[in-house]
Amino acid sequence: MQVFKKKKLLSDWISLQKSQGKHIGFVPTMGALHSGHLSLVEASKKNNAITIVSIFVNPTQFNNQNDLKNYPKTLTADLDLLKNIDCDAVFIPSVEEMYTAHVISKKYDFEGIENEMEGSFRTGHFDGVATIVQALLETVKPDNAYFGEKDFQQLQIVKKLTKKQNITTNIIGCPIFREKDGLAMSSRNVRLTEKERKEAPFIYQTIKKATTMATTKSILEIKQFVTNTFKSNHLLSLEYFSIADEATLQEATTFEKNKKYRAFIAVNVGAVRLIDNLKILN
Ligand code: AMP
Repeated sequence: MQVFKKKKLLSDWISLQKSQGKHIGFVPTMGALHSGHLSLVEASKKNNAITIVSIFVNPTQFNNQNDLKNYPKTLTADLDLLKNIDCDAVFIPSVEEMYTAHVISKKYDFEGIENEMEGSFRTGHFDGVATIVQALLETVKPDNAYFGEKDFQQLQIVKKLTKKQNITTNIIGCPIFREKDGLAMSSRNVRLTEKERKEAPFIYQTIKKATTMATTKSILEIKQFVTNTFKSNHLLSLEYFSIADEATLQEATTFEKNKKYRAFIAVNVGAVRLIDNLKILN
């Protein structure tokens, strides 16, 4: 497995692969890898001769400096996992390599979807995400790039980003990988205490119940159910629960035929903020 720290060396190696007619698949991550990340790598390996993973904890997408400081870093274990599944190359740039002297985001307009949910609770988050994803896609120039539906809003933003910036990479969404008890896998899960970890599947259980209510209950009733359910749990604090149109991510007030909806949730579990989402089958 090739390991690159510099953009120039990585793009020279990629040019060589492309000159041999090989398709490039790319999986951007912030490391602390788990089976959810590895499922994206497997999806890439299925459809591309070469798979490249990046590991970069992007400072500009963190609105909370404590979250950035405490973000888990497990580089040696990450490299072992990637080597074991025959990943072809890993890109681990420094902050200076990606940003030079100015660690700031560009400003983007994604027609409002950047201001919903995660965008409204994490100011500047999607400008940070778009800045780093654009820089990575311009360096790697992959044929296909793989993103998890775990961060569904991010996936929609990246699709809009590539359209607006005329980036030709196909953006492919992959399903959420869960623990056996339903908790969505996340690098942040390792920061949960034993007690919090035991309680955390409550998030999935509640949104699963909420999505099955959609055939008989109104959106208002479903929202009230979720709010009340969380009030009874003293370890978990609900930040938001929203049912939104998958395409616009605008919060819905009624279900309309021929539209797809998803339930989105953010919950604080002690010092750890977790998000999840689930398709609504109405
Ligand atoms: P992160 O390292 O958290 O920035 O995630 C890197 C990529 O992995 C993003 O596209 C995430 O949406 C995706 N991802 C993270 N957790 C999961 C999961 N549980 N299932 C599927 N994809 C995931």
